[in-house]
Amino acid sequence: MNFTLPSLSKILQKGGIGPDLARQILDLDEDSFFNSVLPITKALREAVFQNEVSFCSITNAKSGACIEDCSFCAQSNAYKSAPSPVYALMSADKILEKAKKKKKFGGTEFSIVTSGRGMSKAKELDTMVDAITKIREQTDLETCASLGLMEEKDLRRLKDAGMIHYHHNIETARSYFPNIVTTHTWDEEAQTVRQAKAMGFEVCCGGIMGMGENKDQRVEFTYQLKELAPDSIPINFLNPRPGTPLADKHDLEPLDCLKIIAILRLAMPKTEIFVCGGREVNLKDYQRYMFDAGASGTMLGNYLTTSGQAPQDDLTMIKELGLKPVGPHGKKKAGLAAAV
Ligand code: SF4
Repeated sequence: MNFTLPSLSKILQKGGIGPDLARQILDLDEDSFFNSVLPITKALREAVFQNEVSFCSITNAKSGACIEDCSFCAQSNAYKSAPSPVYALMSADKILEKAKKKKKFGGTEFSIVTSGRGMSKAKELDTMVDAITKIREQTDLETCASLGLMEEKDLRRLKDAGMIHYHHNIETARSYFPNIVTTHTWDEEAQTVRQAKAMGFEVCCGGIMGMGENKDQRVEFTYQLKELAPDSIPINFLNPRPGTPLADKHDLEPLDCLKIIAILRLAMPKTEIFVCGGREVNLKDYQRYMFDAGASGTMLGNYLTTSGQAPQDDLTMIKELGLKPVGPHGKKKAGLAAAV
């Protein structure tokens, strides 16, 4: 198929390609994609991020027993047969201990993730504020949290405690969201992202592809993300969890994953793109092309309820590709974020 993208300088000058071109990329055959798109996405990533690749990792501070019904998630109470660890929010001291362990391994940022719609009790938010205050006082780690839907007053307490980054995904395109979640809305997700952004957090926002959305909806998701203007995008590819409604969903070929990364890079040339959950099972041998497709980072270690590739294997791959691992978020600090 004959397909040509605008030049690198034109794409940068315009702040990215538009949805029509992005949609065409999703229909390209493998040769056309590798010949016409990959050289441009690689050059774009190099122009903005040079040869640096960011790593981030997460700590699950509260797991399972969630009252929401996100169809991809093993932590939902709605899917009783889905295997997932269940434990209440760790104490502030336990979270601090994990942060210190991470620091010892050379981490520069500590990301705390909790299951649930949001902080369900005032006491949980108190614990989180306490943990962030202690981490700030006793380490030089930057703190990031993913605590679900949040109101301004609660985000304010976290900000005042010294938290720098807030992570919240919109999961999928707005038009497809009701097929995936019925207990809250896409607009509620987007509102949390907008709120965090307005308050000056560095915002990390992405979603999961391969949940049954069509190609138009992949493009819709991309440009809805662009409108929210996150500082970084974690893109996940569905790794179906047994016992969930998406347990048998296997929609993505490795080439589809590369195309999704590519349209995100081409739509948002200067935004960090982290390839996170599901990369091993979906990209398979094409993992080594994810940086050519435009990824500027990846997640190291395990995900929330699934295991990741061994960190050493990731580092070997990065080295073989001539790339340099650096700390997460904006590559402000050199140093490798090790999984806890
Ligand atoms: S994704 Fe979050 S809100 Fe949704 S079911 Fe899982 S833990 Fe609950």
